[in-house]
Amino acid sequence: MYWLSRQKLPRKAGMAASLGTAVHASIEDLLQIDLTNRKPDQTHWLPEMAENFLKQRWEEEKEIFHSTPRRPMWKEKEWDKAKKMQRGAIKMLLEFVGANGVTPLKTTVALWNSILSRVIAVEGELRTKDNRLMGRLDMLFADVDNQGQLQGWIVADLKTGRAPNEELKPEVQRQLLLYRDILLSNNPNAPPVKTEGWYTANATRYTATGGPVIDDALKAWEETKPSPTPLKATPGQSSCGGFCDWKAWCPHWWNWRLENGTLGSEDFSDSVILLHHFDDNNGTGIAEICEPANAEGRAMPTGIQIPISFDGRGKEALQELLSTGHQGPIFIGSAMTNRDTWRVGHWCDVLPWSPIPDA
Ligand code: SF4
Repeated sequence: MYWLSRQKLPRKAGMAASLGTAVHASIEDLLQIDLTNRKPDQTHWLPEMAENFLKQRWEEEKEIFHSTPRRPMWKEKEWDKAKKMQRGAIKMLLEFVGANGVTPLKTTVALWNSILSRVIAVEGELRTKDNRLMGRLDMLFADVDNQGQLQGWIVADLKTGRAPNEELKPEVQRQLLLYRDILLSNNPNAPPVKTEGWYTANATRYTATGGPVIDDALKAWEETKPSPTPLKATPGQSSCGGFCDWKAWCPHWWNWRLENGTLGSEDFSDSVILLHHFDDNNGTGIAEICEPANAEGRAMPTGIQIPISFDGRGKEALQELLSTGHQGPIFIGSAMTNRDTWRVGHWCDVLPWSPIPDA
């Protein structure tokens, strides 16, 4: 998966990622505003400003999304979710300066300025001096005590995904600790650095704890240096079965499924087909299921033909593919295969089947 992600193959746009980026950017906007022309005790300004920033970022993300050829459907109704996430982030910022229970409407200019006074950096790039490791820093804050004395730095990573039950997942701990380690390696005289995951879903901050991880990260960097041949594949339920975006270029999931007898057996299945007939108007057609003929993923027709129906973004993606003159096997990701007629809808990948051999 990692190796394929480094081969300049077409990337897939996703609603969750676009939504997260828009929320991140809107919070970063709010942390870089200039409020000098407003009265310190002014209230009622924050909700509108926050929504305007979010709207602007939302529209930007929508445009990027629609200009990405490999994309599902844009879900306008997720706007409410984005607003909720932004509210969660604002709540954490207010609590960070001790303003628990203060609503955005009641937030004074002076209060927001006290948040701004704690900001050291927003949306920075963390990079080791040898250029090997990098991370994107969302927010770096000054940690101050009641007397206003600097106690340390806080690296805050805004998280718009699902919040952890109790503790951060090990991979998130590791990511946050790596930010701390990169920061410390570049700033040997830094005060104590804490890293926190700020989860917008439940407006809760989680602190990452643990020793240095930078040596392990450098080891991993060595092992994942781009190589001319793919890294060893590890097909399985938790890798291919989940959210691998690179199946159209990987022969391994296909052979793995054939060998364990699960090819096309789930309600939503990945498959490689030959399209024998397609009606451009109503999106229906006849597909022939293929099976892998060898380890390299050469497609072999099985003679099994099934009615298939393309709609929405799935139909558009097929039409775009056919308009390039493509003939031959087509990879369909996550088609609904539990009915007599397979359905390829807005959530599906429709790509030319082009497996990259290991050798
Ligand atoms: S389909 Fe499976 S084996 Fe292939 S790259 Fe993705 S996760 Fe790895």
